[in-house]
Amino acid sequence: MIYLDHHATTPADPRVVEAMLPYFSEHFGNPASATHEFGKRAAAALEDSRIVVARFFGVSPAEIYFTAGATESNNIALNVDGHIVTSAMEHKSVVGPAQRRGNFTLLQPDREGFIDPRQVRDALRDDTRLVSIEAANGEIGTLQPIGEIGAICRERRVLFHSDITQAAGKVPVDLANVDLASLSAHKLYGPKGIGALFVRRGVRVEPLGIGGGQERGLRSGTVNVPGVVGFAAALRIRAEEMADEATRLTAIRNETWDRIVAEIDGASVHGPRDLRLPGNLNVSFERIDAESLILAMRRFALSSGSACSSGERGPSRVLTAIGVGEAAAMGSIRIGFGKSNTAGEAAMLVDDVKRSVARLREISAA
Ligand code: PMP
Repeated sequence: MIYLDHHATTPADPRVVEAMLPYFSEHFGNPASATHEFGKRAAAALEDSRIVVARFFGVSPAEIYFTAGATESNNIALNVDGHIVTSAMEHKSVVGPAQRRGNFTLLQPDREGFIDPRQVRDALRDDTRLVSIEAANGEIGTLQPIGEIGAICRERRVLFHSDITQAAGKVPVDLANVDLASLSAHKLYGPKGIGALFVRRGVRVEPLGIGGGQERGLRSGTVNVPGVVGFAAALRIRAEEMADEATRLTAIRNETWDRIVAEIDGASVHGPRDLRLPGNLNVSFERIDAESLILAMRRFALSSGSACSSGERGPSRVLTAIGVGEAAAMGSIRIGFGKSNTAGEAAMLVDDVKRSVARLREISAA
């Protein structure tokens, strides 16, 4: 089976697993145990990893807080009083906390999923405390202008949070105008259940959980040391491989896009051609239901809409927000190319989509 669902998660790189292994049973100490070598060894690994993560984004180690992943980071970042401005493109772990707090504005994207910085400016109110706009969308790949949005927020003295989970390690992310950023290791060939929240120095955030005061009180709970070590190892590898991989995946993605549109009637691609995650393609086919198509294409691991919402009935929120009609939204498949995928696999995919769409249309016409 060929894995084409790299937005949902990525396999941990074997070098990442190797780096983590000693931290399970050999260097297993609690980094908070300052009284012996076991603890000190774990604490050193934790702080070394913090430096690696910080360096990757050009920020200070003191601005990196380890969490259980982007869901937790987003929930902490949105734990503010006052009005929140966010968008219909955001992950549920951003929209959900905003909804729960009640006082928020949900910006609507254009047809390609972009949020115009002017929309953000117009939505700011005297009581606006935080703006949260993601760096990249996990369904249609749109890369948002977070630099410009952050500049507006700074000028208006409003905090700017960006969920950079889908962008980190795939495309360069500039945090210069960002106050808070969430990310997760398992989207960049690291382990699951570990992530980080970047908090710019001087920005105050309230913890969600109260406990032992780890991570300078922002995220209590014994830190997942093997996870942190794996996260750092994954980012070290991304620093080396990201640029070439982005070029390679963009070429594979565009070739797949062009062939699908040229060779299959009634195919439409959702999202922008440029300013898009390299490995992302999101396409629907007239008179085709995504679930049937995915079932027919047994050799490929694909997703319809967002994996976090699968099991949920109804069209994708993101596709609806960019104005895709209900039928097309229900028929859309998300292709997520990643580092293991080759041009040959992409060609096989197109052939299989072509065959499967034709067969499904024949069945429904009969
Ligand atoms: N934000 C975005 C944009 C995501 O794609 C995801 C994962 N689907 C998350 C947040 C949640 O990340 P995690 O699995 O680390 O909680």
